[in-house]
Amino acid sequence: MMIVMKEGATEEQVRHVIDRIEQAGAKAHPSVGEFITVIGAIGDDREIVASLQLEGEPGVEKVVPILKPYKLVSNDFRGGASVVEVGGRKIGRGSFALIAGPCAVESREQTMASARACKAAGASLLRGGAYKPRTSPYAFQGLGKEGLQILAEAREETGLPIVTELMDVRSLDDVLEVADMIQIGARNMQNFDLLREVGRTNTPVLLKRGIAATIEEWLLSAEYIANQGNADIVLCERGIRTFETAYRSTLDIQAVPAAKQLTSLPVIVDPSHAAGKRDLILPMARAAVVAGADGLIVEVHPAPEAALCDGPQALHSDNFGAWVADVRRCVDLMGLVMAGEDATVAV
Ligand code: PEP
Ligand code: MN
Repeated sequence: MMIVMKEGATEEQVRHVIDRIEQAGAKAHPSVGEFITVIGAIGDDREIVASLQLEGEPGVEKVVPILKPYKLVSNDFRGGASVVEVGGRKIGRGSFALIAGPCAVESREQTMASARACKAAGASLLRGGAYKPRTSPYAFQGLGKEGLQILAEAREETGLPIVTELMDVRSLDDVLEVADMIQIGARNMQNFDLLREVGRTNTPVLLKRGIAATIEEWLLSAEYIANQGNADIVLCERGIRTFETAYRSTLDIQAVPAAKQLTSLPVIVDPSHAAGKRDLILPMARAAVVAGADGLIVEVHPAPEAALCDGPQALHSDNFGAWVADVRRCVDLMGLVMAGEDATVAV
């Protein structure tokens, strides 16, 4: 259920409604907007909340059911696109985030070279995995803590906020020390304990879509995070597994407008993992922007032929400036502003 407060409702009136919801055994999630406050009553036996007759309480405008299975992340609850702020860069509602960097942190030199190129090309945030989910246990698994340290140095030098993957709850504290945004990878999209843990932090989360997940399952995973208190979630479409073998995954461009109709959360696209090969990334990135994506995440390496992970899909750092210039034409066409280049987008 969603309790919409009247414009001008007092803090006391809001508090009273929250107390009544909680006394009935449901969880109250207030969302304070510019003009009105909306309170989600979640985990409810809807009958119980309905029996509270909150319509009659002072300051309450109306009580409406949220019909979707996900509540806090649904458009019904927020009633409009939200903005997620990461290290001062805004993602969503007209602010476009370009997240770029190596697939994995392999060494200080490789990460710094990639980070400098990303910064010079105008990227908004730096990506890089210190913990890597690899299909084979014999493949490079990432540098772990040492990799996090290198990412911290890259931020220090470039000023770019860091997006890095968390695979295991046991690494949470180490990752939190460095990450401006925690990436939950495709393989962990339904690792519910991990989702709950990041939901208890205040660090924004990049939630990738699982390779065989429906949009509804993806949004329910986001709900796991939001219902622990962390609503700063950005969704990432990164391709799904289909019968097609000509490329690594099938980029579900339609998921962008579809998810944005259903949720208030920003949606970005990862054309690198969908394509699996360098040449397909630019056309897919253009398509993503024009389909309404709030950002892109791409892999950039100074020497892709020597990369320890995902080399064939890495954009070469020497050409990355030209690559970004091309994508920017689509960003301009859509009337978006690159994150970090505009301070006027309201959070
Ligand atoms: C990655 O971003 O490097 C990655 C492993 O992505 P995904 O979880 O989408 O496969
Ligand atoms: Mn990768």
